[in-house]
Formats: sequence, C-alpha cells, structure tokens
Amino acid sequence: VLYNQVQDLKGTIRVYCRVRPFLPGQSHGQSTVDYIGENGNIMVVNPFKQGKDARKMFLFNKVFAPNVSQEQIYVDTQPLVRSVLDGYNVCIFAYGQTGSGKTYTMSGPDLTTEETWGVNYRALRDLFQISKTRGDAIKYEVGVQMIEIYNEQVRDLLVSDGSNRRLDIRNTAQSNGLNVPDASLIPVISTEDVLDLMKIGQKNRAVGATALNERSSRSHSVLTVHVLGKELVTGSILKGCLHLVDLAGSERVDKSEAVGERLKEAQHINRSLSALGDVISALAQKSTHIPYRNSKLTQVLQDSLGGQAKTLMFVHINPESNAIGETISTLKFAERVS
Ligand code: ADP
Ligand code: MG
Repeated sequence: VLYNQVQDLKGTIRVYCRVRPFLPGQSHGQSTVDYIGENGNIMVVNPFKQGKDARKMFLFNKVFAPNVSQEQIYVDTQPLVRSVLDGYNVCIFAYGQTGSGKTYTMSGPDLTTEETWGVNYRALRDLFQISKTRGDAIKYEVGVQMIEIYNEQVRDLLVSDGSNRRLDIRNTAQSNGLNVPDASLIPVISTEDVLDLMKIGQKNRAVGATALNERSSRSHSVLTVHVLGKELVTGSILKGCLHLVDLAGSERVDKSEAVGERLKEAQHINRSLSALGDVISALAQKSTHIPYRNSKLTQVLQDSLGGQAKTLMFVHINPESNAIGETISTLKFAERVS
C-alpha cells in the first residue's frame, strides 16, 4: 500500500465546506460568512437577526474560502481518490442548495479549460497517471458508469440509443460487484474517453427536461469509477470503486406553493437527502443499525458507505444574504454527519 497516510481515514467521514464567491454581475451585499478559521471553523452571520443570536460557529475538517482554486480543492481530495487503486471504496458527495457550486466542484464550469476542471476529471486523470506508474507491478482496468436518480427511479446516463429504461438495484454478491448491473459499464483508458462519456451523460440528462439546470437540480447524478487491478507476480486481484455524486439541490420547497409534479419531486428529494444524512450520521456514531434501505441513493452506494469505505462530503455555501436560511440548514446538515 503506497498511500499510508489515508489509512487512518478508513471508515471515517470527512466534511469539507466550500464557500462560493459572489458572481460577476451579482449585487455584492455583505457576505453571510463572517470568518473562516485555519482549523476548519466558519462563522456565519444572519443579517436579519440582531445581537448574539445572529452569529453561529461551525466546525468541519476543512473550510475553503471563496478564492480557493479547483487545483487546491483537488489537492485535499487526492489521497482519497488514490486509495481506490489500493482497493478501497470511496464516496465523494456535493451537497448544497441550487446555485451554491456543487456542479462547479464536481465537474467545473465547462470542460474546455483544464484549469477549472472539477474533481471528476482531475480524479480520473490522476487515476490513469498513477496506474501507469505502477504498470510493472499491477495491471489496472478502469470502467465507468453514470446514472441519475430522479423521483426515486434509477436511469442510465450512458445509453447511446436514448432509451430511458428504469434500472434495478441489486445485491452485489449476485451481480459481480455492481450495484446497478444493467447500467452501461464503459471501459476507459484516457481522460479524453471520460470527457466524451460526460458529454453523452449530460445530453441524456437533459432528455425530457425543460432546461438542463432544472432537471439537474432535482436529481442526483452518480458517476462511478470501477477499478480492477491484477498484481502481475502473485495474480491477486484488487477491486476498488469511486462514486462521485452531484446531489439534488437541498433547498426546502414551500409546500404551500409546490403542487403536482413539483411537489412530488420535492418530497422525493427531501426524503432521499435525509435518508443519506441518516446513514452517514449512523455511521459517524458507529451505530449498529445503518438504515440503507430508505432511499435508492443509499441502496446504490451501500457498499461504499461504512465498513472500510471512505466518505467525503463537500457542503456548499452561497454567501448571499437572502440564502441565509438555506446556508444555516446546510451547515446543520453537515454538522450532523461529521
Ligand atoms: P449548483 O450545481 O449547486 O446548482 P453551480 O455549480 O451550477 O451550482 O454554480 C452556480 C454558479 O456559480 C455557476 O455559474 C458557477 O460557475 C458559479 N460558481 C460556483 N462555484 C464557484 C466558484 N468556486 N468559483 C467561481 N464560480 C463559481
Ligand atoms: Mg448543479
């Protein structure tokens, strides 16, 4: 095992908080983030409250200020990603309200500039590079799946024929280690391959949605990287997988306003995000019962949450004052799972 430094992260949950900058053209009010400490503390201030109650302090593994680059974010993610090559299962989540920067962290603003690439592409590039350097000792094969969970239904985002079949979740013991065995598993050997697949995935995600952003804010997308390593001398096999999850927007929908389809979506999202929170906090508390069965998302990720697996949750903060309610509930969610 080359990456000893991550051994101690086994079974643990890390929470990183990332504060989005104000966007160009946005009216620059006062940021609700008052202070970011070096040891993972963050103080937020509620502009609509007075006195002592207006300020709240939270503590996480790390807090990234608005000016932190994609590169710097990846430096702190890399040890977990690399441990997949040693046979670990890893989950990396992006949580936060719509517009807080989840997709920016995971994918980046666009695919054309490498400098702004998100965790997804950097992780795959890294895995390819490291696996090459180990080529004399271990031969690796890498394959990816990409699914979407929308209204508690699982769909394949890598189908080439545009079919939009619902997929079942299986027990991995019966399906060769794949939780969604019917989702396309595409072998990849280069970052270019991955970029091509992402484009297909994004196109399929937009099918049936009025606007891409609409749909993507109401569904979870899961990019899974399966790694199989064969040690050349001993013939022994290593298996690891990395789940990169861009979650649905965590904002609470006003029940009095949402009706029909929109209300159904909102209820599914609320339920699956709280099911995820319940699983992670049960793991953090070393509880004996872990409630995986309560959502499709936690069922898909079951083998990669808990046990020897490693989990990293990025929680995203929008610094605008009108987002303060969601900011506080995001930070409370994050505190509960850490
Ligand atoms: P979400 O996926 O949570 O809905 P996005 O990732 O789409 O949010 O981000 C919303 C907007 O803010 C996008 O225009 C995105 O490019 C921008 N943005 C988000 N995070 C950052 C960041 N760290 N630096 C610069 N721009 C960002
Ligand atoms: Mg998004």
